[in-house]
Amino acid sequence: MKKGKIVSLKQTTEACYQVQKELYTIGLWYENSKLVEADIIWFPYPIITVPDAAGFVFPNTTLLHKILGYKPGHIYIPKYVVMQLFKQERGSLRDILRHEYAHVLAHYYPEFIVDNEEFEKVFGGAYYDMQSIAMEDAAYITDYARKIPMEDFAETFMVYLRRKGVLPDGIKNRKLKKKWNFITKTIRQIQRNEYSEQK
Ligand SMILES: [Zn+2]
Repeated sequence: MKKGKIVSLKQTTEACYQVQKELYTIGLWYENSKLVEADIIWFPYPIITVPDAAGFVFPNTTLLHKILGYKPGHIYIPKYVVMQLFKQERGSLRDILRHEYAHVLAHYYPEFIVDNEEFEKVFGGAYYDMQSIAMEDAAYITDYARKIPMEDFAETFMVYLRRKGVLPDGIKNRKLKKKWNFITKTIRQIQRNEYSEQK
């Protein structure tokens, strides 16, 4: 997704379909999954900058966002972006959706991510911490992951989903492997939890 480049509704729909199929493959997309509650909203008017949490999910909706009618827990894909700030030149539309679904996951399942003590141990800070964490380069899956813990989680989830949970051979760093394994464990916890709720 690039500055000035138009993203069509059709492209958005196709990318959603692909990414939701991947979510199904890793076991997060099923009838009672809370992820299904998240809408993907394509809006055909320009926005000035890519909102952060690279954005589109609005974890803490500001007054301005409320006035504009944005609600947390949904993914907003703008038709085009007028301006980009440092490191906001993001990847493909699918990668953006994969990344945003990580924030959606944290929004709908805070008990396993935001409020999970393990998160802080693995990512070096709490989900909503606004400070970047100093770790060696190899502990981060992308450059953008260095930003703050929630972005590290979302970037790791993005690659996890793209790879359908298969750890790339190139990943040898212990800290990064722990982040990857955190996602596997979280998926299992969510599934176990929902299975017991249905009984
Ligand atoms: Zn993000």
